[in-house]
Amino acid sequence: MSEGSEHYQSFLEQGIEKLHHNHSEDDIKSMLSSLLEQTQKTTELTQAFQCQINEAHTEISSLRNELQSVQKEMTIDQLTQISNRRGFDTQLQQEVDKRNAGNAEPLTLIVTDIDHFKRFNDQYGHVMGDKILQSFAKILQHICTESGFCARYGGEEFVVILPNCDLQQATAVAEKIRVATERMEIKQRNQPDAIDQLTTSLGIALYQAQESATSFIDRADTYLYGAKQSGRNRTVVEPSTE
Ligand code: GH3
Ligand code: MG
Ligand code: MG
Repeated sequence: MSEGSEHYQSFLEQGIEKLHHNHSEDDIKSMLSSLLEQTQKTTELTQAFQCQINEAHTEISSLRNELQSVQKEMTIDQLTQISNRRGFDTQLQQEVDKRNAGNAEPLTLIVTDIDHFKRFNDQYGHVMGDKILQSFAKILQHICTESGFCARYGGEEFVVILPNCDLQQATAVAEKIRVATERMEIKQRNQPDAIDQLTTSLGIALYQAQESATSFIDRADTYLYGAKQSGRNRTVVEPSTE
């Protein structure tokens, strides 16, 4: 209880007590006048207090919005504007948790790494390399909007989580990415002709019951490694057990 309202309450209690003893008209008039004055003061105090509460509410809600946008920013890759590793880790863990809680939908993961990207950087420069990463992220986003969640895992390595997609469906998505990368037109400023062609290699794994997110990523990475080893610009899929 605020100091003002405590004071008001004790004032009322004293007034009631006095009413039991004083019955003259002047006494009652004087008491009523003080009561009116105290009521007025208490009302003003209550209004000021309400204003402070309203201001605090506004500040809390603006801080909450700020926190949400900072949290979102922390999961976005600055260069490509798609999710970063942190966002990916959270998303994948959520999917893994759902499977461990009994969700029986398949879950597949594509890991992809642009081929010979160091060579490209060396030849055309880092700025051009950055533009390629941005274009590649746009391709991923375009292809995966409906079926999954894409992210930049780091460097020139990207990942796609495909909830409710089996190996066959994931392969179709991976091949779309591979072909779109091959077809990407790479041009230099003010030069009409394409200067080079890029390719990407992809590995796909299907989530196995109870495995950790790390083990799932490692397995997909093994298939990506297989794609690199067997010549690049290809998709290697975990062998199906069905
Ligand atoms: P591989 O086909 O085996 O994947 O060969 P690679 O050259 O792509 O692989 P490597 O790991 O040797 O080199 C990766 C290159 O990616 C080197 C690094 O400079 C480049 N890279 C990583 N992050 C960025 C980035 O943010 N911008 C640019 N421009 N280049 C990057
Ligand atoms: Mg590479
Ligand atoms: Mg790499």
